[in-house]
Amino acid sequence: MTTLQSKDQFGAVGPSGENGSAQSGSRLLRRRMLIGGEWCDAASGQTIMVENPARKEALGEVPRGAAVDVDRAVAAAGAAGAAWARIAPRERGRACLAIAEVLEARQEELARLIASETGNAIRTQARGEAKWVADVFRYFGGLAGELKGMTLPLGEAMLSYTRREPIGIVGAIVPWNAPAQLASLKIAPAICAGNTFVLKAAEDAPLAVLMIAEICQAHLPPGVVNVLTGYGVECGEPLAAHPQIRKLSFTGSTAVGKAIMRAAADRVVPVSLELGGKSPSIVFPDADEDWVVEGVIAAMRFTRQSQSCTAGSRLFVHADIFETFLAKLVARLEALKIGDPLDEATDIGAIINERQFKKVCGYIEEGLRRPDARLVTGGLPPGEGPLATGYFAIPTIFAAGSNDWRLAREEIFGPVLVAIPWRDEAEVVRMANATHYGLAAYVWSREIARALRTAHAVEAGWVQVNQGGGQVLGQPYGGVKQSGIGREMSLEGMLDSFTVTKTVNVNIALPPPVQ
Ligand code: NAD
Repeated sequence: MTTLQSKDQFGAVGPSGENGSAQSGSRLLRRRMLIGGEWCDAASGQTIMVENPARKEALGEVPRGAAVDVDRAVAAAGAAGAAWARIAPRERGRACLAIAEVLEARQEELARLIASETGNAIRTQARGEAKWVADVFRYFGGLAGELKGMTLPLGEAMLSYTRREPIGIVGAIVPWNAPAQLASLKIAPAICAGNTFVLKAAEDAPLAVLMIAEICQAHLPPGVVNVLTGYGVECGEPLAAHPQIRKLSFTGSTAVGKAIMRAAADRVVPVSLELGGKSPSIVFPDADEDWVVEGVIAAMRFTRQSQSCTAGSRLFVHADIFETFLAKLVARLEALKIGDPLDEATDIGAIINERQFKKVCGYIEEGLRRPDARLVTGGLPPGEGPLATGYFAIPTIFAAGSNDWRLAREEIFGPVLVAIPWRDEAEVVRMANATHYGLAAYVWSREIARALRTAHAVEAGWVQVNQGGGQVLGQPYGGVKQSGIGREMSLEGMLDSFTVTKTVNVNIALPPPVQ
């Protein structure tokens, strides 16, 4: 195992809290990529500026990686591959457990970094995300002993068994909305299963991922985990197309996911895709209650500015309770505090960047123009005042009769909820399924038979009944339809996504040796 090389990379960063002070423009966090155990600049020397979206200020700078850097990282992963694969799984698991210890000890520092670069509020989001990262390494580290095969009962003459072998070099790409969680969910199972790993972080939020890489590197041989920073087309595309990559694991938009799948098809490389969503939240007439309101807010991920693939962004409320339920929802939503992600009082932070902010505003403008849509709360963000200093969007609800317009069909990835009344159970299920997405769904009713009937009828990879919380480690998680392929986050996910089964048949009924 190599020693910690954090001085180079993080020498300029002090204890927890100092990352927060970089917020005030005091210092730029300069970070480098991890390739073969070394901290590297891009071969071109070019960099990307990382912005603090709550202040519209430069927060840091990372290398602008490109194809040549991808080649180096893949070569480093290749060089490390054979030795890492030979290490006993429980030993690899122990490395993950050691990484988890350090991640846990440094979770506040990680949380502040996440809050600073993503805009996710520290109290409601970033702290939980940082804690989850340590949990992920601990979870998969503990599962190392489960990387086992089976024997087949083929009679006394044959020994037939299977082995769960590593696939090889895994190429992974993550988005910016929950970068630390999503990166750890790929790194930990992949390396625990004996693969080596090249990850491209999202250009908008690479800093927390690089901190995780630093902690990993202290417990792993060089080249087992490599982390690149760069733009999608310049750095992600060559990674997806690299001939030595044996498995692709992508989380991001459906459009880019399709491109990844095409690149994988050229080489018949297995892919896991965790893509977009437009998830329904179905409220039955007996659920006009405060706890459901809380659940719907959680499901919509309002406290992550609804920048979540699983956001329950289409709210189907039974017509009998439509107005009373919305009134309760509005009152609760308007009490949430929007502001600086590092402020403990803040519930809702900032949208990731200007492009996304303008996109969200564009959807709100379209809703405001639409004659058959009614603005229930929110609207366009103020052009001046404290909220204008960052990309702060206001939680917005439109009531609409139709499930068939842009705001109800497209993934906005911002705090814009469309509420639609319904009367007939079959009709609401039809509307819920009238989308090319199928990631998550939420059903709200005390009548468990109809809640489960609905849960089973909805086309989604993950349905929650009477709760709106986040994913739980250990559940096979992923989408159906154009929300993705494959399952990660669980033991099955590690086995299916990051190992390949080899079958060995041994003839044990050999004739006696000729004397
Ligand atoms: P995105 O697809 O634009 O980018 C995701 C990543 O892909 C980034 O690292 C980006 O640099 C890279 N990329 C972009 N173009 C690429 C290309 N041509 N080749 C290779 N890589 C490329 O998505 P985003 O805007 O960063 O993230 C938001 C999307 O991610 C939403 O659609 C959201 O639903 C989805 N998402 C899904 C899940 C899930 O678990 N299903 C989780 C989080 C986010």
